[in-house]
Amino acid sequence: MQKSFKEQCPKSHRPEIRDLEVFWKEDIYQLFRKFSEFILQKYDLRFGIPVWTQTYGWTYRIGKSGVFLVKGIRIVEDGFIVDGIEVHDKETYARILEYIEEIYQQNQDAFLERISRKNHRQAERNKARIAREKNEFASIQPQIVPDQYNVFCWPEKLNIHKLNRLYQLDAMGICDEVLADEIGLTLYLRCKYGKEDAERMEHNRIRCHGCGNELGGEADLRQCSCGRQYSFREYRRSFHRNNMPAGAAAKTFAAFLKEWETAKTYQGKILLIDALLHEFHLSMVSGAAHRPVAMNFIDGSRERVDQMISQLAGNP
Ligand SMILES: [Zn+2]
Repeated sequence: MQKSFKEQCPKSHRPEIRDLEVFWKEDIYQLFRKFSEFILQKYDLRFGIPVWTQTYGWTYRIGKSGVFLVKGIRIVEDGFIVDGIEVHDKETYARILEYIEEIYQQNQDAFLERISRKNHRQAERNKARIAREKNEFASIQPQIVPDQYNVFCWPEKLNIHKLNRLYQLDAMGICDEVLADEIGLTLYLRCKYGKEDAERMEHNRIRCHGCGNELGGEADLRQCSCGRQYSFREYRRSFHRNNMPAGAAAKTFAAFLKEWETAKTYQGKILLIDALLHEFHLSMVSGAAHRPVAMNFIDGSRERVDQMISQLAGNP
């Protein structure tokens, strides 16, 4: 007998899109993906991070900026249930679209108002924080050497045109080993430092971008023997601003990291790159991630990256 979703993904295992793909039959999974694309395109709504409930296990929410329009979406063996409507075929899918349209129209004003209030509160908090940090900076300013302070250099992202080129050549039967190596290595370094630097920061440590030394300590200001200086807080911000892969993204790519080190042949490398691309594509249609994972690795606007990943994954 098939396991229930609650059994498949217990409390200790927050599901990702891959878990849904495994749990459902292909046609249900496709309906769910179609639905998540639809609400994104039409209403700019996304699936939020799943929420655990004692009765139903992991449930889903739809919303924007942390404000939710629909909650408690349940996952069952042959479909998903949105406010009592079970979606499992074309007909029920059509019904759910009508339903979403209806509640979106009914609640749109209040919904957008809540988002704007939330953003306003956030802006107020930001203002207070900036003032506080300005004061803190004033107290360390005498120690700062401006051109050595907070000079960040994260591993490069992949140029999207190179990836495209690799696929084009491969489709023509041309094995460009140099290009495959370059692309793989770029992805590899991004994965590796994303994972390692995130672990360091968890232990209040950072890696100097000038010389690679590890810098610990309690104070926010970190002085490296090579001369570079960092604010721990700004270092962490820069890490996120640069979209370095961390958390769920880094976990998913542990396999790539391990296997790339031992990949010897062009074919082996292409397979690894392609598997990673498949992960990118999955994360794009997943509600669970707010930003597609591809953005951690590939340079370009979100729209452009999405489009390219869909194309390369054979799903334009
Ligand atoms: Zn250094």
